Amino acid sequence: MKKLLLLLLICYQSLAQNPYILVLGIAQDGGYPQAGCTKECCKAVYEKKLLRQAVSCIALIDPISNEKWIFDATPDFGEQLAVLNAHNTIIGKNPTLLDGIFLTHAHIGHYTGLMHLGREVIGAKSIKVFAMPKMKTFLETNGPWSQLVNLQNIAIQPINEDTEIYLNERLKIVPFRVPHRDEFSETVGFQIISKNKKMIFIPDIDKWQRWKQDLKTVIENNDILLLDGTFYKDGEINRPMSEVPHPFVVETMDLLKNIPIKSKNKVHFIHINHTNPILNSISKEYQEVILNGFGVCQIGQVFNF
Ligand SMILES: [Zn+2]
Ligand SMILES: [Zn+2]
Ligand SMILES: [Zn+2]
Repeated sequence: MKKLLLLLLICYQSLAQNPYILVLGIAQDGGYPQAGCTKECCKAVYEKKLLRQAVSCIALIDPISNEKWIFDATPDFGEQLAVLNAHNTIIGKNPTLLDGIFLTHAHIGHYTGLMHLGREVIGAKSIKVFAMPKMKTFLETNGPWSQLVNLQNIAIQPINEDTEIYLNERLKIVPFRVPHRDEFSETVGFQIISKNKKMIFIPDIDKWQRWKQDLKTVIENNDILLLDGTFYKDGEINRPMSEVPHPFVVETMDLLKNIPIKSKNKVHFIHINHTNPILNSISKEYQEVILNGFGVCQIGQVFNF
């Protein structure tokens, strides 16, 4: 018994020392429920049968330095910051404002949360915002974002594709380009690298075939992958789905059907549209994903590095 307690203590201490990811949101840009939706998917939330879900966002936390970064600034930024601060209090750290924000691209679910850093709300001082070249120009040359730059609420840190960003001696980030509808900015995914593990975060991407990288190889070379799970299958929305060509969850599962189960276990879907039945854990589609060996991200979920 004593041995077991000692072992648990050692495990806890090693976990408490290692950086980790905390999931702060899992929904597509419009959140769940979504504006204007009167269908069963969103009615279930208003009728309190299902929980609402914040927009796709993850935090990277380093318990040694008490630093924390988030990936994407969503329309639910305020609430997500509160969750992060509450989490910090629970683990005995002082709540501090963020050490940086990494932006994937300029679609509304991924950067508009920056507005809370301005004079009207937090009045932040030089929060680091890591942005690719077009994303940087977009923020600098369009209001209201340009005001955040001019008043130095944010300090844009230029980043480039396939170029490492050194956060501290335990953590590095590598942005990489992915194909997507790039109206205002390029789109990137991020690789998060610790001493022990490598993680991939791709909330938005067009069909896997359009990507210059081979998904199976990427899975082989990484330990945890949070991937675009926007739509479950074709026909899910009443618009031509070719205009929003995300890989369907069924397509991703089919593409990966022959990889080892251990590799499938690395893949977790995120950025889930309100119409996607995997938001409901008792749906047959959710069960299908789990039975196939994949995961669906949940708010509050922790991925240890
Ligand atoms: Zn998105
Ligand atoms: Zn809906
Ligand atoms: Zn997008």
